[in-house]
Amino acid sequence: MIDRADLHLHTIHSDGTLSPGELVRRAKAGGLSAISITDHDSVGGIDEARAVGETLGVEVITGVELSVSVGDQDVHVLAYFFDHRNQNFLDHLELYRYERVKRAERIVGKLNNLNVPLRIESVMEKAGNGSVGRPHIANALVDEGLTGNYNEAFMKYIGFGRPAYERKIQVSPRDAMEMVSSAGGLSFLAHPGTSISEEVLMGLIRDGIDGIEVVHPSHSDERVAFYRGTVSEYFLLASGGSDFHGGRRNDLQVLGKYHISGEEVGMMRRRLDLA
Ligand code: AMP
Ligand code: FE
Ligand code: FE
Ligand code: ZN
Repeated sequence: MIDRADLHLHTIHSDGTLSPGELVRRAKAGGLSAISITDHDSVGGIDEARAVGETLGVEVITGVELSVSVGDQDVHVLAYFFDHRNQNFLDHLELYRYERVKRAERIVGKLNNLNVPLRIESVMEKAGNGSVGRPHIANALVDEGLTGNYNEAFMKYIGFGRPAYERKIQVSPRDAMEMVSSAGGLSFLAHPGTSISEEVLMGLIRDGIDGIEVVHPSHSDERVAFYRGTVSEYFLLASGGSDFHGGRRNDLQVLGKYHISGEEVGMMRRRLDLA
């Protein structure tokens, strides 16, 4: 029986700081009975998490966080319950990760043109074997003393609209959702409270998104209530979690604080049984 489920967690397979096994142990200590590892464009942490989860009695639901393009905006989509060995799915993730490396190189090129002497090697070292992203670039900038702190790196250089910003590969929401559903999974709009307009939200509902991430640290109680209303109005599913990354960004107390219920996870399963 699932009591508390946190379906949004990152590991060293993307921009998180814990290994999947360590994260499962910490989740257990935080009182969670089910989790999903949702690394950006990677399913590399799932098998390890599941193996440790089985020994501890923590259910590990298959997950990933994808990026899709809506206009010039980068929108995050969480996918759950798909077959993480589906070859078409894996091929797409590999392409997205390759394009992330190319983009990191372009960002470093722009920084160098701005007289910020960051080397791509120090960024790739931060990413290790995981999907490289702007958080690795921000951490490399801080560690090399090229910027004051993590947030300043985004505000000065790599945030949306800043001089070293570069887009990721552009994937349409429909294509991403199609890829997820053909691998047997469900798609959710991630953290809509972080600058997703009502127009974008409605567009995704029209495109056939299965649910909304209702519970997220960036959502006030009013926002949570608002998205719960949208979920029931459009017969969608509700997801939620902590978006835990560890390290400088989250402390461990966050684990166990943001969760959905076993009943909400059950509704996801029932929706798939109907498919
Ligand atoms: P990427 O997937 O490489 O585009 O990196 C996106 C991640 O960078 C997001 O999930 C956030 O964690 C972080 N991020 C994006 N914009 C900002 C910002 N303005 N300030 C701090 N962190 C940010
Ligand atoms: Fe992240
Ligand atoms: Fe996200
Ligand atoms: Zn996330």
